[in-house]
Amino acid sequence: MPRLKVLFVASECVPFAKTGGLADVVGALPRALADHGHDVRVVLPRYRAARRHPADKLDAMVGVPLGGGTAWSAVWTAHMGTSSARAYLLEHDRLFDRDGIYDDAHGEFGDNLSRFTFLSRGAIELCRMLDFRPDVIHVHDWQASLVPLYLDTIEAGSPIADAATVLTLHNMGYQGGFDPAGLSQTGLGWDDYARDLERGGRINLLRAGIRRSTVVSTVSPRYASEIQTPEGGEGLDAEVRARGGDVIGILNGIDDAAWDPETDRHLPAHFSANDPSRKEECKAALQRELGLPERPRVPLLGVVSRFAHQKGIDIIAGTLERLLVRDVQLVVLGAGESWAEEVFRRLSRTSDCVRAHIGMNEPLAHRIEAGSDLFLMPSRYEPCGLNQLYSQRYGTLPIVRAVGGLDDTVENGATGFKFTELSSDGLLAAIDWALGTYRNAPAQFRAMQIRAMRKPMGWGHASRQYEALYRLAMGKRRAQRRR
Ligand code: ADP
Repeated sequence: MPRLKVLFVASECVPFAKTGGLADVVGALPRALADHGHDVRVVLPRYRAARRHPADKLDAMVGVPLGGGTAWSAVWTAHMGTSSARAYLLEHDRLFDRDGIYDDAHGEFGDNLSRFTFLSRGAIELCRMLDFRPDVIHVHDWQASLVPLYLDTIEAGSPIADAATVLTLHNMGYQGGFDPAGLSQTGLGWDDYARDLERGGRINLLRAGIRRSTVVSTVSPRYASEIQTPEGGEGLDAEVRARGGDVIGILNGIDDAAWDPETDRHLPAHFSANDPSRKEECKAALQRELGLPERPRVPLLGVVSRFAHQKGIDIIAGTLERLLVRDVQLVVLGAGESWAEEVFRRLSRTSDCVRAHIGMNEPLAHRIEAGSDLFLMPSRYEPCGLNQLYSQRYGTLPIVRAVGGLDDTVENGATGFKFTELSSDGLLAAIDWALGTYRNAPAQFRAMQIRAMRKPMGWGHASRQYEALYRLAMGKRRAQRRR
């Protein structure tokens, strides 16, 4: 098979910028594809935080059309891990030299439409500058959703428009909604707005991506069907349904280089399915690190999560009073809604069985995955979810709500515990089942842990599925362009 030229356009990519799972996927999938011999490049903004990472500055600059003028951008490039995949970081200080990726303590940035228009148009201009003619442009979420629309409008006559586009939906809850007064930033016209962008009287970037990309994918098969319903479609279900067979679900993998308890550099001791004994040391070290009593036999429950409605953080909060009398320990890492930050901060001070760390902390996330016995994820909806994959890999059995990717990736009673009812009672019943297994059937609990750890979850399989999707999209795009 001839190798493919693939351009990823995304707002996050590990290690340069991360707020959630999108960054993990965009950091890992390109490397897996490059390891299969493809020419893979990733474009993202050079946020202030991304400057910490070594990169080389290209000699030439890219001129990005923005709001009737040109935003000049320096371009920095870096290898992605040990693979041949390359990241390109577009630098424009007015838009990106600030703390935060989408928002700060005052809320969402008011110029996000300009910032991500810059990303989408900048990606296209970068291809021209590098003389890179991608077979496929793989765009992620609303932040890159203008690319497919540009190829069909402003760029329709240029060679880059031959590229097939794949839009991956990582979370339909975020759509890029803006006041139509900002349309001039994009260079698009009111006819484009009316046809592809308008939703409820506002610009909706994701809508354009769903309508215009050659194929649409999402990060689990179950979420692919959920988003076609009014309950799961967040107002765009009709658009998704209209794409019919063009919408497919591919489960995320996990990055073996970063998330393997046998080699994880953030852990105090290493273990595996073949030799799980030192997991206990990780638990003891976590208890010490967070100032919890060092009690090997008390079940330790972990949470690593954005504190957001989607994640059911309120559902966890609703169990606390009843949970904490069950002789358990709870460690929580996260940030987000301030009421939740306050609840966990306060409990952390007042309870001797809860410790919370508010903020982003990658090393601690690894140590919680490794040191806990059980992991809580009572999401309202979950496109794929990575933490339940990490926890299975680390022998920490996830307790999850049976939705989206959580349902697709956890085997009930075999590699984790599922519940359906969206309530604290529902979660607590599943926790009780898990605690009962831990305390009364330790051999069964251990067998479940081993089974979870043995599950193949790397990017090998998923990256082959994306390759097949790219080829399908290329065929469709060729047919479209011939018409
Ligand atoms: P989402 O992208 O919806 O937030 P995922 O489960 O797909 O949820 O991915 C979340 C990713 O972000 C995981 O890699 C998780 O470990 C990480 N993460 C979330 N919150 C924190 C935090 N406070 N500190 C460190 N990592 C975090």
